[in-house]
Amino acid sequence: MPLRTKEEYVQSLRDSREVYYKGERIDDVTTHPATRGMIETQGELYDLQRDPEHRETLTYEEDGERYSVFYRRPESRDDLEARREASRLWMDYTCGVSGRAADFLASGVTGMAISHEHFDTGERDFGEHVLDYYEYCRENDVCLTHALVDPQIDRTEGSSFRLPDDGGDRPGVLRKVGEDDDGIVVSGARMLATLGPQAEEILVYPFGFYAPDEADQALAFAVPAAADGVRQICRPSLSGNDARNHPLSSRFDEMDSFVVFDEVHVPWERVFVDADPEVANGWRDTAYTNMALHQTSIKDLAKAEFAFGVAMMLAESTGVDEYFQVEAKLGEIATTIEQTRSCIVAGECQAAEFGDTGYVVPDGTSLSAVTSSFPDMYPRIIEIIRDVGGSGLIGVPAWEDLEAENPLGGDVETYFRGKDIDARERMGIQKLAFELAIGGMGGREELYERFYTGGPMRVKSNMYKNWEDKDALRRRVREYGLAGADRPRGGVESPAESTADDD
Ligand SMILES: Cc1cc2nc3c(=O)[nH]c(=O)nc-3n(C[C@H](O)[C@H](O)[C@H](O)COP(=O)(O)OP(=O)(O)OC[C@H]3O[C@@H](n4cnc5c(N)ncnc54)[C@H](O)[C@@H]3O)c2cc1C
Repeated sequence: MPLRTKEEYVQSLRDSREVYYKGERIDDVTTHPATRGMIETQGELYDLQRDPEHRETLTYEEDGERYSVFYRRPESRDDLEARREASRLWMDYTCGVSGRAADFLASGVTGMAISHEHFDTGERDFGEHVLDYYEYCRENDVCLTHALVDPQIDRTEGSSFRLPDDGGDRPGVLRKVGEDDDGIVVSGARMLATLGPQAEEILVYPFGFYAPDEADQALAFAVPAAADGVRQICRPSLSGNDARNHPLSSRFDEMDSFVVFDEVHVPWERVFVDADPEVANGWRDTAYTNMALHQTSIKDLAKAEFAFGVAMMLAESTGVDEYFQVEAKLGEIATTIEQTRSCIVAGECQAAEFGDTGYVVPDGTSLSAVTSSFPDMYPRIIEIIRDVGGSGLIGVPAWEDLEAENPLGGDVETYFRGKDIDARERMGIQKLAFELAIGGMGGREELYERFYTGGPMRVKSNMYKNWEDKDALRRRVREYGLAGADRPRGGVESPAESTADDD
């Protein structure tokens, strides 16, 4: 059944996966305090797909069967708008915080399927592998994570984000170390898999560029999170596990894990790029990029809007929203929101058929403008929340204090009220602001926004390198620069000419 329930998703995670937390292997990720919160949330998102109120938005029908809309290969601009609505619904449900909910990689895998021909090298049917994998994910409504970047260890050599292979027995770099009739064997490590312990499948694909002598690292494949030899090492949990006092981190902490591949066997049908730098280096030009960027931009919009709401109500709660300089700061956030929204709409308006596939993808350049600017804009939004909230962000009592017997409850009621707002209402806003701007999760989110697409420098440099109209621009500038004052003014008399005539 393609549309799964929360219960089915939860059951699927009760497998033999090796996930380690603070030195110990987690028995059951669905009940462990470090991982269970987001599993609950992802389960609820799945349940929304079956909810009659949201079914039309979140699913589509094909051959009498209903599937998640995130696995729909778009054939028109309308289909893209429908995807936007669906992702928006999921992202609003998580206040834009759970950016790696299942819609993200469902979009990516759908993009891979659109450009499956890219993977065909002639040696094996890698394009067919991609299509089969897409069908598997669509049929089972799979929740995926991805792990792309070499461990940091030493960034002084090798291409950016990549690590030179030290050639040791335990190579830092993930690479192919063997092959048999059934598939390939890989060893090494990749970071960072957001949602890794909470996902069913791990997708690995190329990040950066591979030289011919790095062919054994130029790989793309997928394995179950429970595959033999896969070990995930979690960061410390950021979840307060206290939904009342930690309303965001208790529910939306997508655990980040470091993934070790220890002689992992990948069957051929799950290998998409096999030691092939040329195909690997072309990854960025596949429809994966457009489809993934669409989802991440929608997430950014949902996140910025929620943060704006918090900033605005925080300012109103003490009346500082009346000051001109605070208004201007709130206006900055509103500007970010409108710019983000405009880029998404532009991406959809300028959507085009991807090659001769019959499928339509959003314009990558418009969406890249979001990815390029949001790493700067989001930290600014958080800075504004801190600025507007002041000590009110940190001096927030627990709900238990408000509900305690007097004198404590009375003290809280009296001294934590705001301008035209009682203590209960104000504390609700303050707790959200704390989570976004002060708490551990807020710090992680800020870092995430800076780095999740490769880091601000990389994204901006790509924006420059991939700018399509550079030659036309050069021509314009060159022509104007060389012609100088003699440049014809196209029917408008130049001041120099009119002066000469007068004489
Ligand atoms: C919260 C979070 C979640 C993430 N989730 C995922 C995920 O789910 N899947 C995934 O695959 N990845 C994930 N990532 C990793 C992300 O892709 C990387 O952070 C990103 O690609 C940058 O790599 P890095 O962190 O190793 O930084 P580095 O490459 O070590 O860069 C650190 C700094 O050094 C600079 N630098 C590095 N190399 C060079 C060089 N050669 N020349 C000049 N400057 C250089 C960079 O510009 C940067 O300022 C996540 C990251 C974060 C923070």
